[in-house]
Amino acid sequence: MIEYRNLKVALLGGGSVGAQVADLLLTHGDELASRAGAGLELIGVAVRNADAVRTPEIPQHLITTDAEALIHGADIVVELMGGLEPARTLILQAINSGADVITANKALLATHGTELFDAAEQVGAQLYYEAAVAGAIPIIRPLRDSLAGDRVTRILGIVNGTTNYILDRMDTTGDSLEEALAVATELGYAEADPTADIGGYDAAQKAAILASLAFHTTVPLDAVYREGITEVTLEQVAAARKAGYVVKLLAICERIEIEGKPGEYGVSARVHPALVPLGHPLAAVHGGNNAVFVQAEAAGDLMFYGAGAGGIQTASAVLGDLVSAARRHVIGGPGVAESTHANLPMLPISSVITRFQITLSVIDEPGVLAEVATLFAAHGVSVEAVSQSVAVGTDDTDATATLVIVTHQATEASLSATVEALEQTAVVASVVSVLRVEGL
Ligand code: NAP
Repeated sequence: MIEYRNLKVALLGGGSVGAQVADLLLTHGDELASRAGAGLELIGVAVRNADAVRTPEIPQHLITTDAEALIHGADIVVELMGGLEPARTLILQAINSGADVITANKALLATHGTELFDAAEQVGAQLYYEAAVAGAIPIIRPLRDSLAGDRVTRILGIVNGTTNYILDRMDTTGDSLEEALAVATELGYAEADPTADIGGYDAAQKAAILASLAFHTTVPLDAVYREGITEVTLEQVAAARKAGYVVKLLAICERIEIEGKPGEYGVSARVHPALVPLGHPLAAVHGGNNAVFVQAEAAGDLMFYGAGAGGIQTASAVLGDLVSAARRHVIGGPGVAESTHANLPMLPISSVITRFQITLSVIDEPGVLAEVATLFAAHGVSVEAVSQSVAVGTDDTDATATLVIVTHQATEASLSATVEALEQTAVVASVVSVLRVEGL
C-alpha cells in the first residue's frame, strides 16, 4: 500500500457548491489521493451559521465560524463563500501563509484578480479558478494550458444559464420575457433578485476573465461593454426565428487589428443579445446550459459545452483544481504566474466590426426603400439583404411597412451614425430594433 503525504485542505463556505465539495472529498478521498499523489485531508469548513442544515450533510466537528483560524496551517484553501469581502482578505491571507488557493468566485476575480494574482506570484503560490467560468465545463485549463501554443482570436460564449434558459423558453414556448423569468425563478434557475443575470453583469465578469486569459492581457471589468436581455421582446425572438436565427446573450472576446495601425492588435470584450444563425453550434445550446466557442489560429473552431452551474457540477471543477494543486505540492516549485505578457490595449465598442439586423417601421410610399438605402451607403454601411412586409393602417394615409435590413460587416461607430440618421428621416416612423449578428 502506497503511503501518501497528507495535504491539509480548508474549505471556506459550505453552501450549494461547498457542501458538495466537502462530501466528495470525504467519500472519494482514497481515489483522489491516488490521482493527486497526496492525501487530501479536509480540516474544516468555515460558514456563517454553524447550526444551518446542509445538503449533503457536513460532519459537525468540521464546521467552524472562524475562517481566519482555519486558513492557518492549511496547504490548500478552497474559497466558496462568494462576494468580494471577506473572500478577498481571506484569500490574500491564505496566499501569504503559503497556501495554494482555489476559488469559484468570478465576481472577485473580475474585480480584484490582478491584486490576487500578483500576491500569488510574489510568494510562488498558485491560484486556480476553473469553476469561476461556466461551472463544470473545462474552459480555463484548455485556454491556459492546451491552447498555450496557439493564438486565440475569438471567443463566443453562452456563459449565463439563467438568460439562456429565458431566451430559449421565449423561443420554444412563446412566453414573454416576464413569463419566462417567472418560470426560471420557480425552477431555481434565477435568483430572487435576477439583476446580475438578466442585466448581463454575471456574463461580463466571465468575459473579463476569459479575455484576460485568452489574450494574455489584464482586462478590467469596466472595459467590458455590457447590455443585458431586459429589452429583448418576444416579437424580436419570433422574427429572428423566421429569418433563420436565434437570440442568445453572448460574451464575445476578440483580438482585433487596430484601425489605421496594420499589424497592431487590441482586445475587445462585450456582452449583449445577438442573433446567432440556426446552423451555428451555439444555436443548439438549450435550457440552462452553457457553451464556449473558441476560435484559434491553428486549432480552428472548438466548442466546450455542458452544465454552467449547479452545486455538484461546479464541485467537479473545484475537485479537478484540488487534484492539480495537490500534484503541484508533491512536485514542488513555484506556481505558474498568470500570463499578461501581451498587455494589449482595450478597444472601445465603437471599433468592433460586426453585422447588424435593423428593423424599421417606414411610411409605405414609393421611393422609401431607395432613400433608406442611400442613407446606409452615405455612412459606409453596406446592405446585404432587405425584406419588406406591409401593414395597412386604418386609412390609406397611415399605411406603414416593416423593413428588415441585414448589413455586411460594419463598425459599431458607422452603424450608430446610420441609426441616428435613420431616426431623423421623415420616411422612417421608428427604428424598431437593432441587433448584432454573430457567428456567420
Ligand atoms: P452559497 O450557497 O450562498 O454558499 C455560500 C457559503 O459561504 C455558505 O455556506 C455561507 O455560510 C458561507 N459564507 C458566506 N459568507 C461568509 C462569511 N462572511 N463567513 C463565513 N462563511 C460565509 O453559494 P454557492 O452557490 O455555493 O457559491 C459559492 C461560490 O461559487 C460563489 O462565488 C459562486 O459565484 C460560485 N459558483 C457557484 C455556482 C453554483 O451553481 N452555485 C456555479 C459557479 C460558481 P452559511 O451557509 O452559514 O450561510
